[in-house]
Amino acid sequence: MALSEFKLDIDTDGIATATFDMPGKSMNVWNEKAIADFSDIVDQFVSDAAIKGLVVTSGKDSFCAGADLTMLALMKHRVEGIARQKGEQAAKRALFEDVGRLGGIFRKMETAKKPVVAAITGTALGGGLEVCLAAHRRIAADNPKTKLGLPEVKVGLIPGAGGTQRLPRMISAQDALQIVIQGQELRLEKALAMKIVDEVVPAKKLIETAKAWIKANPTASQPWDQDKFKLPGGPVYSAGGMQMWPAANAIYRRETYDNYPAAKAILQAMYEGLLMPFDLALRIEARYFAYAVSTPEAAAMIRSLFVSMGELNKGARRPADIKPTKFKSVGVIGAGFMGAGIAHVTAKAGIDVILVDRDQESADKGKASIQKTLDEQVMKGRLKMDDRNALLARITTSADYAALSGVDLVVEAVFESRDVKKDVTEKTEAAIRRNVVFASNTSTLPITSLAKNFKRQKDFIGIHFFSPVDKMLLVEIIMGKKTGPKALAVALDYVKAIKKTPIVVNDTRGFFANRCVGNYVREGHIMLAEGVPPAMIETLAKMAGMPVGPLSLNDEVAIDLAWKILQATKADLGEKAVDPRQEKLLEEMVIKRGRLGRKNAMGFYDYPKGGKKTLWPGLAEICPPKPAESFDRDELMKRFLVVQAVEAVRCVEEVVVTDMREADVGSILGFGFAPFTGGVISYVDQMGAENFLALCEYYTKKYGKRFKPPKLLAEMAAKGETFYGRFQQAAQKAAA
Ligand code: NAD
Repeated sequence: MALSEFKLDIDTDGIATATFDMPGKSMNVWNEKAIADFSDIVDQFVSDAAIKGLVVTSGKDSFCAGADLTMLALMKHRVEGIARQKGEQAAKRALFEDVGRLGGIFRKMETAKKPVVAAITGTALGGGLEVCLAAHRRIAADNPKTKLGLPEVKVGLIPGAGGTQRLPRMISAQDALQIVIQGQELRLEKALAMKIVDEVVPAKKLIETAKAWIKANPTASQPWDQDKFKLPGGPVYSAGGMQMWPAANAIYRRETYDNYPAAKAILQAMYEGLLMPFDLALRIEARYFAYAVSTPEAAAMIRSLFVSMGELNKGARRPADIKPTKFKSVGVIGAGFMGAGIAHVTAKAGIDVILVDRDQESADKGKASIQKTLDEQVMKGRLKMDDRNALLARITTSADYAALSGVDLVVEAVFESRDVKKDVTEKTEAAIRRNVVFASNTSTLPITSLAKNFKRQKDFIGIHFFSPVDKMLLVEIIMGKKTGPKALAVALDYVKAIKKTPIVVNDTRGFFANRCVGNYVREGHIMLAEGVPPAMIETLAKMAGMPVGPLSLNDEVAIDLAWKILQATKADLGEKAVDPRQEKLLEEMVIKRGRLGRKNAMGFYDYPKGGKKTLWPGLAEICPPKPAESFDRDELMKRFLVVQAVEAVRCVEEVVVTDMREADVGSILGFGFAPFTGGVISYVDQMGAENFLALCEYYTKKYGKRFKPPKLLAEMAAKGETFYGRFQQAAQKAAA
């Protein structure tokens, strides 16, 4: 047996230890070879009477991150080949057999009538947790970084190696369903409390505890393989079951609006599986897996949220010939809402921060707001006091630019005013070393124009964070006309250090993300003006796949900000650049009624103290609603997505975005564009340029020129091209 991904040791007591340890990788994942290795190990475990028990563990401080999803592409290729040669039915059978393979190995392991212990060194996700669930006991090392979960749904899949069947047979179906359908990742304490993990021991004692358990339990079998087994949450057909399953169905629809076939497949696999004996239940799961993996939603989500996001995180756009920067200290100027957030995430990454504001008091106020956030996390048990103290100790506040003399990078987040930014940039340049990159977090001012305040324009770049900084995963890096490759490399190294996902875009008003999401919010405003009832606007937007309605979103980012941006656009580009209906609505809200959004508890919603927000009834005075029946529901839903996607196409045409992966990943992480579509560009590609063009033309005629299709789209429609087909190869070649 030539193992490469696993090591196998058998001790003098006949206890075998299979150690998952992929050479040269920081994480273990199930790929073809790892599965083959493990299959050989299980065969030997089953057939060799001298082996009394098996410990499955990892040689790394994480256990296993799940399956290597690129394997699915190979599987798809193989299945398509069979479909061509032997027909659809044979292809379906081959797919079913393929997807059940890993689960079959686990089943063989747990029914060997010999004890198996999962000795969990750290994070175990997806197929990594599923092998643990197939063990007779789960013992975890006390690793604070450990996360356990079945996150397959997040890329449009379902757990396919027994996860949907073992978990609800170990804990209640209700808890299991929640964990799997939301793709939750549990911390160790929670997993222990829920009895997903049996025991937590010091890392040094992990293997010895596992072996001791094996010796004490020579004939272990799973509860579900025992005659008197009862489901922990009670049978499906019981009073409890009748309370749970219909409600689960309703919650599923409320949370997903039926946009996620995998979430539905999880619900079905669990429900139907729990009515069946275990082996049949596994076949049911495999069927639903085979279905989920064949959906366009899974293909789109895997490409954007797994493959592309992974590539961007690894620095796909980084100029390769520039030495990586290690950041010891970063200067953040402006300790307001964004500056404090940026200081927080930087210090969290172990980097020292010099936080500068116009006076000491303002700088200290910024640090105090970080302290408040951390204290809340400590109170909730999410952060250790020592870590809180260490993070705060890394942040030094100052009003003196001289404090920036040793920093490796500066990020500016002062008021959105050209004059203030000019003053701050000049003062900073005089204080920092002569090779340090300067980044602006501006959201509206072109980087090229701000760079003029800095003598070394090649070292000036935009690093645009999204709010709230600690939660939002995306960072938009903006290249000014004169920004050089070193600045790009430094910015990408920084974004990687703080563990966010970067996209690199060229300079334009609103950059990429805000251009698209601005259109979304404006569409909500225009619908209001058309008389669409506000509740209908909010609900239809969510049904279309957006995480929050446009009115809610505008309340969060502030309505006066939308008003200011609209006025600035009008001043720079003229009357015609703004929609008069939107201007009238915003003027009414902001100027006449002082409704600024959540920040003053008055926006499109009311925010009663201690209560739930409700739509503001006064909206009916400004925009009298028409009956809901007078609107075409599907058309309104599509408008939300089309108006964003057409802006993304304009960004491609204007060379603001050059890499389709960035447009897709950026749209999902930056503004929550319907994730099941794979992002703005995948949305268009899946529909086809011709269909999208027709939709844009129809909407232009009916609703106005904001839907006007760019020339590029007509050209692509005529040639039958896709965005990935036309642009992606060239973009990846240029980046390589
Ligand atoms: P803010 O008003 O909360 O903070 C601005 C900070 O800058 C304040 O602490 C202020 O004291 C400080 N400041 C003002 N003049 C200064 C000077 N001369 N020297 C040093 N410090 C000075 O604003 P914010 O929302 O944090 O926005 C900051 C920047 O981030 C803006 O450019 C904004 O466009 C951008 N941005 C904001 C958001 C957002 O959602 N708020 C999102 C992305 C980018």
